[in-house]
Amino acid sequence: MKNNNNYEYLLNNLTKIKGVGKKTTEILKKKGITNIFDLLWRLPKSYIDRSNKSKINELQIGQVSTITIKPIKYSFPRIKNLPNKVTCQDETGYIDCIFFNSYEGYIKKILPLNVNITISGKIGYYKNKYQITNPTYVSEDTSIIEKVHNKYRLTDGINQKYYNKIIEQILNNLPSIPEWHSNKIQKKFNNQKWRESIIKLHDAKNIGNFQSDYYRRLAFDEILASMLISSEIRKKIKKIKKENKIFKVDEAKTIFNNLDFELTNDQKRALNEINLDLKSKNKMFRLLQGDVGSGKTIVSLISALNVVKSDYQVALMAPTEILAKQHYNFAKKIFPKNIEIDILSGKTEMKKKKLIYEKIKNGKIKMIFGTHTLFQKKMNFNNLGYIIIDEQHKFGVKQRKNLSDKGGSNCDVLLMSATPIPRTLIMSIYGDMDISIIREKPKNRKSVITYSKPDSKINDVIKFVRKEIDDGNQIFWVCPLIEDSKKIDHESAIKKFKYLKNIFPDSVDILHGNIDKNKKEEILNNFLNKKFSILVSTTIIEVGIDFPNANVIVIENANKFGLSQLHQLRGRVGRGHKQASCILLFKSNLSENARKRINILKSSNDGFVISEEDMKLRGFGDLLGFKQSGLKNYKLADPIHNADLFKLGENEILRIEREEPNIKRYKPLLKLYDQADIINDII
Ligand code: ADP
Ligand code: MG
Repeated sequence: MKNNNNYEYLLNNLTKIKGVGKKTTEILKKKGITNIFDLLWRLPKSYIDRSNKSKINELQIGQVSTITIKPIKYSFPRIKNLPNKVTCQDETGYIDCIFFNSYEGYIKKILPLNVNITISGKIGYYKNKYQITNPTYVSEDTSIIEKVHNKYRLTDGINQKYYNKIIEQILNNLPSIPEWHSNKIQKKFNNQKWRESIIKLHDAKNIGNFQSDYYRRLAFDEILASMLISSEIRKKIKKIKKENKIFKVDEAKTIFNNLDFELTNDQKRALNEINLDLKSKNKMFRLLQGDVGSGKTIVSLISALNVVKSDYQVALMAPTEILAKQHYNFAKKIFPKNIEIDILSGKTEMKKKKLIYEKIKNGKIKMIFGTHTLFQKKMNFNNLGYIIIDEQHKFGVKQRKNLSDKGGSNCDVLLMSATPIPRTLIMSIYGDMDISIIREKPKNRKSVITYSKPDSKINDVIKFVRKEIDDGNQIFWVCPLIEDSKKIDHESAIKKFKYLKNIFPDSVDILHGNIDKNKKEEILNNFLNKKFSILVSTTIIEVGIDFPNANVIVIENANKFGLSQLHQLRGRVGRGHKQASCILLFKSNLSENARKRINILKSSNDGFVISEEDMKLRGFGDLLGFKQSGLKNYKLADPIHNADLFKLGENEILRIEREEPNIKRYKPLLKLYDQADIINDII
């Protein structure tokens, strides 16, 4: 056995494995496996024990057995559908080996007459004789057979025997990588080394040992690697020096005169944290996290005004034009009138656009609103000092890293997210950022009351809606699909629109992703201005938009949505002073799990609680916005079952940040586990 300590062997592509060629490489690539390291995490699913040898007269029908025999006679009938047969014997009896679809030449090669051969397979019985069909293992070297054989989940084009050979080869060549964990951490896992742990992981007899030291050690490797990468990015950003913003007077206070509410304590605290960062000499890279409706916008706008007043420009980027417009209008309302702000959208005419570019360049425009198009080449800021990005949960670590580089070192960055993250995961997902959390909801806010109804009770829902319309309220009606689908039995927006239009002829309109941009905006504006009462739509209304007069949201096929997504949708209503309602419609045959999920939503209005519960029920992979977070790449670690390891990781990171300015010894860990290759920019 080769024994080296070079981890780079694991980063080789699969063709470095003996016997693996282009074809296998292509097959495995489709499964997301590109290098040897990736292969380590496909675990055996079961095993066959071929270690028990017997004689022919001891064979038991239906069992997998290993026997040593001598082939004594071939029978190749050459008739379609009749199998080839090799009669074999040992000193106690006879057995037939039956081959379907195997060439004579091959059979003669593996079972030469009058030679002792060891074979293994499931024992059958036919016409008074034992038989083995397509014996899986045929070999002269009995040691290869007489053992436990792992069974892996296979993919077309690769068989068990071949796959096992590949894995065996890799395990034999597994490097003994120098230990990266501190002594204290090693002790927690009873000093299980990486290499030995991987070998145990591939011993099929250990399947399901999730609580074993070796398994937990490997899970912890993953957790620490992802946290350490974030921590390094964060450290690097922290080192960037900038000109500090000087707040002459905290003139932003003037804004408060234009507000008809007071900030909550959480809003004040978040604003304070942001202001401190802005005034410091270090570049800010901060996440402002708060549930839907917690009032993040106002916090960002006040901090923006502070920056403007310190003679820097600000850019606010929203995920949609409608939302950009809404933020812009809000700023127009509360900013001092002598501060020029503007909005750039796809719709802006060329002439106006050019003027905006000009004014951005000469510094006349102090704050600009828009979507991602804000950062085009044509855009040259005079003195950009602050970028605010709303609803950032669409970015992964790598994209965030790029963002942090935007605008040069003098530019502070604030990301805002309405996706509550279970506590266990905050450091794993956002370890590269400082975080401010708004947990408290504005005081005047009434909780949305949530009902659930089977489809069959639609008439009750219509009655309820009619009453709300009579009271001057507006309704969102959300469907999972745009059009009817033959394949999926979900309500479509178009069908529902027709249905509702019949009942409320002048009060319904429809919005979905296939509607032209300008038309979309017109519809939303009409809804905002109360030109109609019911807006039937797909989930495109999910993000951020504020409709103070919308009071009811009806959600069809509610069980098809994630809990966090339902919570986001529900957050579209209940922004005004009236009591708001959310009606979840579902098909009557709900599963136990679906029922539980709906009950969680009914009993809580707190996005953090909901995300924790959602994670417990569905696993973290499905939580809204986690798809690109990198977290999904965990092979073994599980935030629910390994919550303690995540906590341990947080503490260990703090220790490393304190005590180990040089993280060179973690290099193999990071190189192996960082599939996003971020590490190349860091070490
Ligand atoms: P989100 O955090 O989801 O982005 P918004 O910033 O859109 O929430 O705020 C939702 C609504 O609450 C807005 O109409 C906003 O003006 C209002 N709001 C924000 N802060 C407060 C507060 N402290 N008291 C009352 N209303 C508030
Ligand atoms: Mg918002």
